[in-house]
Amino acid sequence: MTQHALIVGLGIAGMASAMSLKKAGWEPVIVERAPERRTGGYFIGLQDAGKHAAERLGVLPGIHIRTPEASPNWHMTKDGRRVRVAGFADQPTRPATLLRGDIEEGLWNGVDGQVEIRFGTSPVAIVERADGVDVTLDTKDGSSTIERFDLVIGADGLRFTVRKLVFGPQEKFMHSLDAVICAYQVEEQMETFRQRDGVILNQDKRSLWVFPLQDHTPTAFFAYRTKDVDAQFERPAVETLRDVFADVEPHSIVEKALEDLSNAPDYLFDSVHTVEMDRWHKGRVVLVGDSAWCLTLFSGMGATAGLMGGQQLGEALAAQNGNVPAALKSWEGACAPTLKNSARPCGSNRRCSCHRTGFSSSCADWSCASAGVISRSFQQCISRR
Ligand SMILES: Cc1cc2nc3c(=O)[nH]c(=O)nc-3n(C[C@H](O)[C@H](O)[C@H](O)COP(=O)(O)OP(=O)(O)OC[C@H]3O[C@@H](n4cnc5c(N)ncnc54)[C@H](O)[C@@H]3O)c2cc1C
Repeated sequence: MTQHALIVGLGIAGMASAMSLKKAGWEPVIVERAPERRTGGYFIGLQDAGKHAAERLGVLPGIHIRTPEASPNWHMTKDGRRVRVAGFADQPTRPATLLRGDIEEGLWNGVDGQVEIRFGTSPVAIVERADGVDVTLDTKDGSSTIERFDLVIGADGLRFTVRKLVFGPQEKFMHSLDAVICAYQVEEQMETFRQRDGVILNQDKRSLWVFPLQDHTPTAFFAYRTKDVDAQFERPAVETLRDVFADVEPHSIVEKALEDLSNAPDYLFDSVHTVEMDRWHKGRVVLVGDSAWCLTLFSGMGATAGLMGGQQLGEALAAQNGNVPAALKSWEGACAPTLKNSARPCGSNRRCSCHRTGFSSSCADWSCASAGVISRSFQQCISRR
């Protein structure tokens, strides 16, 4: 008999889960709180493990990779000199670079018409019964239904609902890294740089990266540490960033980036949190992606982990012939060590001397620079699992 799964969230983890469950003979339904697809997003890294997962799902050819060829990265010193350094794509794992929307698009083409998708719909209660899970689903038009599923997958991202309903309050699992980021597309490359150049300013726990992309204008990424995260959101992003980056040099680059931000049609301005849990499933409810293990964008692993987790879930269900408790146990046993071992944002680049000498806030290597902006708590957090 066909088994039914509810997937909460039409993000990367949700769509990957839906495709893999479908392949395993399940009937998945995706509910998405937003009224339509969330196609946005900026620079993102896709590691080999993520590509492998996309390949197994059959969507890799539909994902547009935008890693520029022969792309030098320039660390800007305070006095305006350019120092050639390794950039994000030069990490030892050689991640592909692209936009989050490129992965979303590839997965969407795999679920569109194949999987039932209900927009404007969210779970408000989840109750486990002996033979299934009863979920109360509310829609934006005010209707409410209770439906029974054999499995519920919470793929609803960092600020999750499924976890709250089943595992407990947010504060128990979400840990602030006391960092704030802003990502958006710039109007054009920084003056005097070529399209394929990466530009990096990294001073005193504040950094601005301009990520080059093939076939696309670059995207900018501000990141900084703060002890008062909430206060950062009291004003528009551009005003907050103007103050925080007031003395970062060369200031002409900061100014140009901020000017583009003030004209950007959309941007991501958010605080950074990890999610740490002892286990990712409880009965017939399982969490996948950021909702389960948010590694943060400093890890460069968010999309990869979402793809991997979703893809492997369907394979585990198939391998256990639909035995949900056994499949969830084996899936979690297989995923946890992989995520722990591969998601190390700090010190992983052996070519960088900071690896040996301790992390520096002026280093331009992605992993060390991000460690300068965040803190070691990320690494401690994943190491404790
Ligand atoms: C619009 C958007 C832009 C992003 N941009 C970037 C970026 O530029 N760089 C980067 O590194 N990462 C970005 N991310 C995060 C990155 O996509 C994720 O870290 C990674 O892909 C793992 O995704 P996920 O599927 O676990 O969660 P998410 O991508 O967060 O997807 C979760 C989905 O669940 C939906 N949802 C949330 N709550 C409910 C609910 N109660 N009921 C139903 N649906 C719900 C959300 O609307 C969302 O569509 C972005 C995410 C989004 C949604």
